[in-house]
Amino acid sequence: MFYEIDDKFRDECGVFGIFMNNPTSTTDAARTTFYGLYALQHRGQESAGIAVSNGHKIDLHKGMGLVSDVVKSHHIAELEGNIAIGHVRYSTTGGSALVNAQPLVFHYLKGMVALAHNGNLINTVELKKRLETYGSVFQTTTDTEVVANLLARYSQDTMEDALAKCMIDIKGAFALLIMTEDRLVGVRDQMGIRPLCIGRLNGDYILASESAAMDTVGAELIRDVNPGEIVVIDKNGMRSLQVIKSPRKAHCIFEYIYFARPDSTIDGLNVNRVRRELGKQLARDYKIDADIVISVPDSGTAAALGYAEESGLPFEEGLMKNRYVGRTFIQPTQQMRELGVRLKLNAVGEVVAGKRVIMIDDSIVRGTTSKKIVQMLRKVGAKEVHVVIASPPTKFPCYYGIDTSRREELIASTMDVEQISQFIGADSLHYIGMEGMFAAMKSDPGIFCAACFCGDYPAGEESVE
Ligand code: SF4
Repeated sequence: MFYEIDDKFRDECGVFGIFMNNPTSTTDAARTTFYGLYALQHRGQESAGIAVSNGHKIDLHKGMGLVSDVVKSHHIAELEGNIAIGHVRYSTTGGSALVNAQPLVFHYLKGMVALAHNGNLINTVELKKRLETYGSVFQTTTDTEVVANLLARYSQDTMEDALAKCMIDIKGAFALLIMTEDRLVGVRDQMGIRPLCIGRLNGDYILASESAAMDTVGAELIRDVNPGEIVVIDKNGMRSLQVIKSPRKAHCIFEYIYFARPDSTIDGLNVNRVRRELGKQLARDYKIDADIVISVPDSGTAAALGYAEESGLPFEEGLMKNRYVGRTFIQPTQQMRELGVRLKLNAVGEVVAGKRVIMIDDSIVRGTTSKKIVQMLRKVGAKEVHVVIASPPTKFPCYYGIDTSRREELIASTMDVEQISQFIGADSLHYIGMEGMFAAMKSDPGIFCAACFCGDYPAGEESVE
């Protein structure tokens, strides 16, 4: 049992893979994957793993914890091979036991396969039932194992044909990396809900959830995997199979608002630029009589800078973050509970005392953290606290690989803006509207999923038993 400090939606996974034609050392692929996962740590902190192929067999190391806790230098030394995939995971789907940590490695008719998945399938229950009637036995509770069993079911086909059939069967959101003994494959769901991009490093191909991971390992971003596309990388290079013609795109808009790193560019849009635009849009929509603009660091900072720039008010560092509280979950001792948000954030009295403060945050989920931060600011002397949120109210759960609270726990599903404002103790509360949000994206609104704000699920809702 853990106690959550943050009050945020949680991304559930990050994936990274590399195919090296001529590595200078037998462990280059594993080491590069380690650094790639390091760059994606914000996408999952509960477990990490790396699988490596040397052309004949696949070796795996995985464990519970952060990448640096799980993968030590002696593990990398043992992971010899020129192809690697890695995974970081934070998940409620399937629980957090080691057996559910990824990559998953399994044997099938044609050899060994490793799988790493970001996303969530919405028809897992039906697929599992179907596969069980054919005799499949499941060891984990993840939907990734359902994909593995489907692949095994189509093992008479080539890997590409088997994957093409799987893509028709599975519904929902997925960015999937698959490694056989001699190939690296990337697959993205037909609407491109979860991100997956392609890069090159010294002529070798890389696949990763975010371009920031490419930057970290010194690779160059080439492009995103297209919705419904399979990319196959082997010793002959990369080839693309457009298996499903996408009915529409539905990129997760929350990646831009909160999940992704600001230094990532996803589907052609730079995350930092989007966040600044959201802040500017908020300043145009809500002109508040105040002295300073502050952010809830770090995810609210780019929007706060945008708000300050557009409004002409000074941006100040009114809240300090303890950068060493990396884990979002802590042991729930009584003392820890009492410390709560103060473990992670502290208000700077010198900056906010006697001031009318505009505080920018990316989102409010349950409202409990916002309430504590507002109290914190008042305690050090803030005269007024106006809370401005760079996303519309989050009223609906996500079925596409994001851990949201249950609907009844989402404060915006049971309270209106005025009631939330009173609950968190703010002088005023303002959310960006749907129109304002889409205006800040500077793209066609029809290419995004925004279901957690509007309840319109582009790929359907999850079926339950
Ligand atoms: S419902 Fe929200 S969090 Fe989930 S994919 Fe859509 S925009 Fe992203």
